[in-house]
Amino acid sequence: MLLTFSHQLIYLFNYLIFNSLITMKQLFILMLLLFSCALGNAQQKAPVGRMPVNFAEQEAIVKKFTNSFDSLTPMQQIMFFTNVKHIMDPEVTKIEPGKIDSDPPSDAIDLFNGKDLNEWEEVAWGRGGPGGKKPITWIIKDGGMQPSSSSGSAQTKRVFRDFQLHIEWKTPTGLPATVTGQDRGNSGVIIQGNYEVQILDSYSNRTYRNGQAGAVYMQYAPLVNPSRKEGEWQTYDIIYTAPRFKDSTTYFTPPRITIIYNGVLVQNNVAIQGPTFFPGIPQYIIKEHGDGPIQLQQHGNPTTFRNIWIREL
Ligand code: MG
Repeated sequence: MLLTFSHQLIYLFNYLIFNSLITMKQLFILMLLLFSCALGNAQQKAPVGRMPVNFAEQEAIVKKFTNSFDSLTPMQQIMFFTNVKHIMDPEVTKIEPGKIDSDPPSDAIDLFNGKDLNEWEEVAWGRGGPGGKKPITWIIKDGGMQPSSSSGSAQTKRVFRDFQLHIEWKTPTGLPATVTGQDRGNSGVIIQGNYEVQILDSYSNRTYRNGQAGAVYMQYAPLVNPSRKEGEWQTYDIIYTAPRFKDSTTYFTPPRITIIYNGVLVQNNVAIQGPTFFPGIPQYIIKEHGDGPIQLQQHGNPTTFRNIWIREL
């Protein structure tokens, strides 16, 4: 009978949790407090001479349990409450992968597949960041999309929060040997209009390590340099978790980014310190923002992009 009642309680709690009426942590604390009260009542009714209720000790127990409870994954928290070890439902969503890993899977949004620029608009880019929007003037040429000499940066019309992005790019060929450093094939993938993943010809073009291809510009150098030669297609696979804001100028959790460059991990879930600045002295001014576009930087070099797709997470 008691077991049945316990199960009914579990179902009630699950109903509350899954309808977002109460968080797991709130529920757990509530249960511990109820247990403590029940224990306290029982001990108050106990004969004189028994050990009195030690509230400090109870508080320590609650703290210990809630701390360890916080360390569990959401899946383990469900297991904790339901005592079910093999969770069947809801079934993990089945999607179709691409024929090869660089193809978009069935749940991806195709941002550029070589046919049109319908997903894109354009913004001016300057020291103050992106300027006003206008229709895209990039052209489809040389197997991909690239800016004309008068174009601004390309920007997705859609905005995104957390995502997995696949993008392929190549830097221009035929630049004279006198074009070096940041002038050689400079572009970038600017996330949510704020955080730049650098694109550069870094095959044989020494520049500052936190400004070469695969860098979170001015913040993190890539772990290694797997660059291919100019004119060869290269890939970025970017996993990005957007910031959550504590207030208008402070991150509750900073943006985080993982970058796989030509199949090689070059950024491992690093915490971005703030919007990209040049020259980049780390006095980052954080300004609250919502979901944002993906921008492809126009830096005066006709860097070409193809096969761009994104999965919202
Ligand atoms: Mg750049």
